[in-house]
Amino acid sequence: MVSEPVQPSLRRMRQFAIRPDRDLGQNFLIDSNILGVIERAAELAPHDVVLEIGGGLGVLSEHLAARTRHVHVVEIDERLREALLDATDRHANVSVHWADVMTMDLAALSPAPTKVVANLPYGVAAGALLRTIEQLGEVELWVAMVQREVGERLAASAGSAAYGAPSAIAQLACDVRVLRAIPRGVFHPVPNVDSVLVGMRRRAPAASAGVRALVGGAFAHRRKTLARSLVLSGVQRSREEIREALVELGHPADVRAERLAPRDFVELARMLAL
Ligand code: SAM
Repeated sequence: MVSEPVQPSLRRMRQFAIRPDRDLGQNFLIDSNILGVIERAAELAPHDVVLEIGGGLGVLSEHLAARTRHVHVVEIDERLREALLDATDRHANVSVHWADVMTMDLAALSPAPTKVVANLPYGVAAGALLRTIEQLGEVELWVAMVQREVGERLAASAGSAAYGAPSAIAQLACDVRVLRAIPRGVFHPVPNVDSVLVGMRRRAPAASAGVRALVGGAFAHRRKTLARSLVLSGVQRSREEIREALVELGHPADVRAERLAPRDFVELARMLAL
């Protein structure tokens, strides 16, 4: 007789005949010790309202539900319906939203999330985090498993090779830290990439749309100077105006975007009235 796996992800995969979809980043958590690591990093408390992005087979969802006031679980893949509901149905404080986190109206979630906790799908990890910073103003803490490069990019300091638009935009609102490496063996199937746990703690509202557009334009052509990259990106200011503003900010006129600290972009947007 073949015995049933005890670990819930493995059991549900077997019971509901789930074949993980790599395109959707379906690397399910199969090591329950990691749940405790996430729980401590997220400082879970009974009043928390948590958004979990990518519910999968529900192992993290049920762990969160037992420790918090409410959990919103967003999952795009309706093939997982039976398996995910097997985990969440017994918890009255869970709402499951069958939606794409990149297009759904996050601001409409009620009660409003105060934390984001997730084992994120690789394809949308950075975009999903930035979207929640922008749309969920009451979120104060994020704890997420992401591909190592994504975590390092979000936490990168100005001047480093990994620093880019996501770093500046995330750091304008949050203190961002890579908390620890996560071994590949905690996932099934085992991913082809390394993962880390990233933590972000809010210290300010999200950057304005003008600043976000400026940052995007500044990094759009990384090999060009910042002024040139902005002009190429269609910003409605002349190259000379931008160069003068950069000098006033204390940078060389031909500086590249990666030398500017996140706050510099806010100042630059103000000086250029963007
Ligand atoms: N939380 C589960 C766990 O830890 O085992 C699953 C994590 S798995 C890495 C990522 C989950 O995100 C998958 O279930 C996948 O179907 C879902 N997903 C992928 N893209 C998504 C999207 N755009 N919006 C919502 N969920 C998505």
